[in-house]
Formats: sequence, C-alpha cells, structure tokens
Amino acid sequence: MFSQFALHERLLKAVAELNFVEPTPVQAAAIPLALQGRDLRVTAQTGSGKTAAFVLPMLNRLVDLGGPRVEIRALILLPTRELAQQTLKEVQRFSQFTYIKSGLVTGGEDFKEQAAMLRKVPDVLIGTPGRLMEQLNAGNLDLSHVEVMILDEADRMLDMGFAEDMERLCKECVNREQTLLFSATTGGAGLRDMIAKVLKDPEHLMLNSVSQLSEGTRQQIITADHDQHKEAIVQWLLANETYQKAIIFTNTRALADRVYGHLVARDVKAFVLHGEKDQKDRKLAIERFKQGGSKVLVATDVAARGLDIEGLDLVINFDMPRSGDEYVHRIGRTGRAGSEGLAISLICHNDWNLMSSVERYLKQQFERRVIKEVKGTYSGPKKVKASGKAAGVKKKKVEKKGDKKAVAKRKPTAKPKANAPLASADGMAPLKRRKPVAE
Ligand code: AMP
Repeated sequence: MFSQFALHERLLKAVAELNFVEPTPVQAAAIPLALQGRDLRVTAQTGSGKTAAFVLPMLNRLVDLGGPRVEIRALILLPTRELAQQTLKEVQRFSQFTYIKSGLVTGGEDFKEQAAMLRKVPDVLIGTPGRLMEQLNAGNLDLSHVEVMILDEADRMLDMGFAEDMERLCKECVNREQTLLFSATTGGAGLRDMIAKVLKDPEHLMLNSVSQLSEGTRQQIITADHDQHKEAIVQWLLANETYQKAIIFTNTRALADRVYGHLVARDVKAFVLHGEKDQKDRKLAIERFKQGGSKVLVATDVAARGLDIEGLDLVINFDMPRSGDEYVHRIGRTGRAGSEGLAISLICHNDWNLMSSVERYLKQQFERRVIKEVKGTYSGPKKVKASGKAAGVKKKKVEKKGDKKAVAKRKPTAKPKANAPLASADGMAPLKRRKPVAE
C-alpha cells in the first residue's frame, strides 16, 4: 500500500486517483530511502514503475516546504524528448493536488517559448541535456537552487554522447542536496565514472539483473538470408502472430524508412519513428500508435527510447541491436507487469556474432524458430566456437624463415584505432564504440 510511505496527503490523494494500489518493487525499495534524502543509484528498466519511484519523493520534498518560491528546485535530466514528455505528464498527474509547477526543455520545441516559460520559473524542470545546455549558455537557466537532481536513463544519455553536458549540468546544480541516478542496465565504465563524480555515498538498488529482465517474454531468433528476406518474414509475422501492438526496431533511420515503406506498400498500416522526423510527426505517430490508430510501429532505438506503450506484446528486431544493453532496452518494452510478450530477432550472417554475444550477456539461449512458409537457406554458421560465435575458416599461413614475399606482405603492427571495439564492462564481447548521434 502506498500509505506505508511517509508521503504528503496531497500526493497520496493523487496516487489513489491514479488507481495505484500496490507499489512496484522499485517503488517499494527506492521511495523510503529517497524520502530520507539519500543519494541513490537504481538499476531498473522502463516499465518497472521507476518514474513514480523518483517523482513521488521529489514532489514530497517540494510540497513539504510550502510557501511561494520562484526557483527551480528539482531537475530531471533524461535522454529523449518523448521520455521527457511522458515524465512531465507523470509529474503533473502526481502534483495535481499541489501548487507545484513543472516545465519542459527539450529540442524540437520553440527556443523562445521555452525561454519565456523559464522566466516564469517552474518548480520542477524536465529536460534533455542538449537543449538545457543551450538555454544555460543563453543565460536563461539558473540551476543554483536545485535541491534534488534526477538522472533518468543515465546509461542511455552516456550512450548518446551526453557525458560532458551531464557533468556540466550537475555542476550547475551546485547546491543540490540529493541526486538520484536511474539506469536500465548496470552500464559500463562511463556510468561508473559518472556515478563516482555525481553521487555521494549512494545506495545501489538492483531491481533487475539482466537475466531476470524478460521473464514474461519469449525470446526467439529466426535466421534470414538478407534484408528482403527479413521483410518477407516481418510481413508473415505481422499477418500470423497474435498481438495487440508490435514494434519493429532497426539500427538505422534509412532501414526504418525502408521497412516502413515495404509495409505500407503491402497495405500494412504502420507508423515510423526516427530522429529525422520532425517533432510534430513524432508526437503524432506516438499518440496514434498509443491510441491504436495502427498496430505497428517501426522505430530506431533512440526515437523509441523510454516509450511506455500499453499492450505492446510483439517486438521484432529487424537487425540485431549493436549492444547487449540496447537489446535489453528494446525487449524491456514487452512482457511488462506479468503480461506475456514475444521478442523475435531476425538474424543474417552478419547479425550472428552480435546475437551470440547478447545470449552470453543474458546467460540464456534464444529459442530457434523456423517458419516453413518463409524459410531461407541461411541457418547459422557451419561451425561455432565455444562462445557461440561463428568459427572462422581462414587458416594462418605458417611463415617460413627468410620468406621475403611473406615478410613484405605482412602489415606493420597496427596501433589501436580511435574507433576500435571496446571491451564491455559486463563481460560481453567487444562492443562497437558508438557515435554520439541521436537517431
Ligand atoms: P515507468 O516504469 O515509470 O515507465 O512506469 C510504467 C507504467 O506503469 C506507467 O504507465 C505507470 O503509470 C504505471 N505504474 C507505475 N507504478 C504503478 C503502480 N504502483 N501501480 C499501477 N501502475 C503503475
């Protein structure tokens, strides 16, 4: 029961109004500690109820002091516009019986209108790092009165190349008393570094080890010969699986557009969501997808980040995500709150090794599925190593002493390149260094 928490009655009233009865595990673990003023590092995925876990204690701090104040007293930093909008709604719903005002600062919205909103000084500011920095640099933002700062989906912000902005914004909140950092995964060295810099003696709450992450979701792979073959499989799945809503993930914008075009050409009603779409189109696509205007959404990772969509029970990875964390983020959208979900990854020969890295990361093997109506010729590598990766067939030539040709052919020892693969801190196979580009 939420009444077990020492929350202000106005907040409990809002909780009751929203029909929240039982706190989720992350709420039960985080709310009491956050109410004590502790810094927290919480590992919890989207869909776990993490937003209320930080919004309620944050609002409690603001509502308790009372009296008119014209200062930004809480800052919520998160990676994408969509997540920011969703979080604003959640803050507004929980603060509906209080005088707390909240505002949003994200890219894709009018800069001057935002500056005007900032002049009115909301109590709670929610924003993405890039635009917050622009407003800060334009002299429109004073964060020196922020008491509580929340970094939501911190791992994701780091993946997007926001480390410097995040640090700078933390520094701007010079008088903050509490910092709460949430991430969907345990993250790598970048996250550990950020934690060391911005949190004070934090309590670490691990609400989802990756291996428990997708209990309600069956995870399958289907091998495919090439992209056209994948398109045929997608079409088959959308026509034959039972689902309320499906999301198809691609690694690139171009591929998202291509898959979307293919579906539309075959009369499948779908929406597409990626970073090149303008903000209005993105909002519209999300709203219409949520309301059931279409059952299918094609999206890149960043564009769909943090979206909380009810009834999403089918996730198709058109291509394999570039890291285990990304996979966890994608799959975390289905099988929520005990419901059933199905996650299917389409695997060409160039997806195989990534797929087996993800299997090792999650310590589980995905179900191999064959659909005879759309069966291709590729069914995985001929030989696999103990790691599950494809075994190479090339043999090393034994170089004889004095073999001048071989010596001339031999390349000089290469220095590691700037974009050389990185070893994952989670024991996963080397991961590709990612460009800080918002999809
Ligand atoms: P989040 O992980 O914060 O994105 O939350 C996922 C969804 O669960 C949101 O739609 C919340 O409104 C909902 N939710 C969060 N906590 C509870 C709760 N204790 N009872 C019912 N619904 C909840």
